[in-house]
Amino acid sequence: MRAQIIDDISELRELRIAGSIQFVERADGSVGGLHFVCPCGCGNESYLPLRGTGHSHEWDWDGNWDAPTLTPSIFNTGMPCRWHGWLRAGEWQSC
Ligand SMILES: [Zn+2]
Repeated sequence: MRAQIIDDISELRELRIAGSIQFVERADGSVGGLHFVCPCGCGNESYLPLRGTGHSHEWDWDGNWDAPTLTPSIFNTGMPCRWHGWLRAGEWQSC
């Protein structure tokens, strides 16, 4: 499934498009993380902090704004669906 990039967090929360993403920029212009709506279709939202932001779980981003890749995999343990998969080149892939 293709990840749709949304500019505005309120739009992400209103539309709840499965697999949509919103980049969160910090005060210095760097990207701190990504909000996303679960690609499974359950409508839940979560946040993925990027490496260097001081969270216990952090992801590496390849710097691609249009077709992002994150590592490691994403496991939505906080959601009832417990979706597990990858975001690679802008595509969500279930494990
Ligand atoms: Zn889900």
